[in-house]
Amino acid sequence: MPAHPLLPMNPWLWSRTLGETHAAGLDPLGTGLRLRDARLAALLREAFSESPLYRRRRPGPGGGLPRLEQIAPVEKAELMQHFDDWATDRRITRASVDEFLREPAHLGDAYLGRYLVWTSSGTTGEPGIFVQDESSLAAFDALDALRLHGGPAAMRPWPAWGALPRYAFVAATGGHFAGAASIERLRRIAKTFALMPWLAPALQTFSVLRPLAELARQLQDFAPSVLITYPSCADALAQLQGAGALRLALSEVWVGGEQLSAEQRTRIRTAFGCRVHNNYGSSEFYAMAWECSEGCLHLNHDWLILEPVDRQLRAVPPGEVSDSVLLTNLANRTQPLLRYRLGDSLRVLPEACACGSRFQAIEVQGRADHTLVLHDAQRREVKLLPLALATAIEEGAQLTRFQLLCTAPDRLELRFEADQPDPDAAFGRARAALRTFLATHGLRNVRVAKGRAPPLRSGRSGKLHRVFHAPA
Ligand SMILES: [Zn+2]
Repeated sequence: MPAHPLLPMNPWLWSRTLGETHAAGLDPLGTGLRLRDARLAALLREAFSESPLYRRRRPGPGGGLPRLEQIAPVEKAELMQHFDDWATDRRITRASVDEFLREPAHLGDAYLGRYLVWTSSGTTGEPGIFVQDESSLAAFDALDALRLHGGPAAMRPWPAWGALPRYAFVAATGGHFAGAASIERLRRIAKTFALMPWLAPALQTFSVLRPLAELARQLQDFAPSVLITYPSCADALAQLQGAGALRLALSEVWVGGEQLSAEQRTRIRTAFGCRVHNNYGSSEFYAMAWECSEGCLHLNHDWLILEPVDRQLRAVPPGEVSDSVLLTNLANRTQPLLRYRLGDSLRVLPEACACGSRFQAIEVQGRADHTLVLHDAQRREVKLLPLALATAIEEGAQLTRFQLLCTAPDRLELRFEADQPDPDAAFGRARAALRTFLATHGLRNVRVAKGRAPPLRSGRSGKLHRVFHAPA
């Protein structure tokens, strides 16, 4: 299949999207909700007429459009299983997208000449494949430009990406993950159109899979002013900075992809002496919420609908913690997501936020894996980031459902669900991948055992945490 290096960018679509997003920001409950409703109607029309999968799932008889709450929630497994029936562009098939993804060099290329493709890392089970059309990319760009820096009040005349000179993006590399694909796309736009000629060389990607000391050296050499990474990685780097082993002069730290705890935020802010921007996104919708000046997350309700639900998928009222959420993505009509179950549990704050924004304020509860502290043969501490460990197993052993417990400073235990096909073979592959990863971190002494018990789940949400220290 011919690969196209550049995705299309229709200037009319981009300026209209930017204008609408700006208008919604000025009037979230008026213009914002009107735009949301119009986008939802257009999405439902297209999904129920062009996607065979959604045609089959259309609720009840009748000519009119169903209401959102009449549509049965959908799981990732069902969409992936019926991938060829899912998209409204009938040329999108599992075979062609797999062929495209097989080649790492296709990162940031235009699939079928017009789509950006990324895969989820499988934090909630099996990985998903998400095809982003031009409208969703325009929406993500508009949200980045207008809200990333703290909402409409802090709007800047150009995209936030261009506002500061040196960006270090530390993430899982080697796959087609959302962050890496988006950064690669941005680099190409900057290079090709020379819109922001200073941006291409000042935006560098670093692998979170490298040992922390090596990563710190690479970052020191690059000397970024903005660090973009996971909270656990920013926290580990902040501790190096606090100990004097790292001397970065940062003006901002942007974190996402995991839950940010209050302690992590304080450590990062104190060590680097700068503001920490949290944001909430997923592979299914890249920019779900932005953080305001009060440190509160606000939902982009003009571009997506999030319904907090309990275990039986019934609506949960504001103020209560949900079991999961149903996502309806209003930006992407090519690969529709209608009431798609996301594993995150969250709480809609019942009271208005002190910042004054009328975008719904939320608190995200999920995704809190641990940074493991292991000992090498000389009993020196070595920190391993949860996302790096999980990615090493995913990529090295092609496994997504597992749990890695640290039972002692030199012992790890791998657990699998009861329905894991051929658990012995899965363990063999995972152990080999882990040993390679541990060796690059100077941890050949760490033993990896297969757990007999089922994975531990967290009390309230029943969520499967993938990497953590066994409770003492
Ligand atoms: Zn606020």
